[in-house]
Amino acid sequence: MIEVKNISKNYGDQIAVNNVSFSIQQGEVVGFLGPNGAGKSTMMKIINSYISSDVGVVRVGGIDIFEDSVGAKRKIGYLPENNPLYTEMYIREYLEYVADIYKIPFSAIDVVIKQTGLTKESNKKISDLSKGYKQRVGLAAAIIHNPDYLILDEPTTGLDPNQIVEIRNLIKEFGKEKTVLLSTHIMQEVEAMCDRVIIINNGKLVVDENLDNFREEDTDTCRVVFDKEIELEILQSELKVEVFSSNSKKTYKFKHYEKSILKKLYEFSEKQNINIIEFKVSKKSLEDTFREFTT
Ligand code: ADP
Ligand code: MG
Repeated sequence: MIEVKNISKNYGDQIAVNNVSFSIQQGEVVGFLGPNGAGKSTMMKIINSYISSDVGVVRVGGIDIFEDSVGAKRKIGYLPENNPLYTEMYIREYLEYVADIYKIPFSAIDVVIKQTGLTKESNKKISDLSKGYKQRVGLAAAIIHNPDYLILDEPTTGLDPNQIVEIRNLIKEFGKEKTVLLSTHIMQEVEAMCDRVIIINNGKLVVDENLDNFREEDTDTCRVVFDKEIELEILQSELKVEVFSSNSKKTYKFKHYEKSILKKLYEFSEKQNINIIEFKVSKKSLEDTFREFTT
């Protein structure tokens, strides 16, 4: 379990993380979502005890990361943002270097090379690899010590669509055995991989929901266009549902679509002697819901 309690971090007068608390249960794959500058990377560096927080507590697998950062790091695999690698090294050489840091036997190298699909490339220099394969090397380095927890900071940013699918599939594989926290600013990424979503905005936690609950925020909206102008107040009082006017008095929006709206609109148009010239239902995407929480 990862427990984050009341974590705050300022850089000078820049507030990066503002009193954030959440916990992640064993085996969960959690998407850590937020716009650029929200505080995702800062929070992930703190969990990995890469930087310290100003206040708060983080426990990973029961270990207080500020009291025993070495012990915690043994349990955590961390892929930093932009995946810093020693590109002049060969893949194997680099993984040997990482294995040395963790003081683990080199036999682990073959295991991760296979796990991350690097077998064919394993004798290449890192600088000669495509971005997708570099990302695999980053993932191999992150899991070489067989950690229970994976902290992945924007693991698919900058990859082409095929590479994105490949890396997502790898992460899904890891997610079967490990507890994963992965950051992204793309909602579809969370849909594709995660059980739960945590959204931060301006350093504050704004959503912590499992994906199914989050989807329920996701209702359809609808829009009507009349052939004549009608006052908002009249429409509102006749229909008794929440109505939003747009720039013309002919077009109105409803926050939620229900079949009863259509019936009410027909009755209304009869009574007012006007015609409905358009009625459109719009699906609200998870992207839209994300935007509602972060703008
Ligand atoms: P995200 O990963 O969500 O894009 P970050 O955690 O990188 O967000 O950044 C959160 C805020 O903290 C931003 O306003 C960023 O400019 C600021 N910040 C991050 N790192 C530093 C730093 N080393 N010094 C000063 N400000 C920083
Ligand atoms: Mg970041």
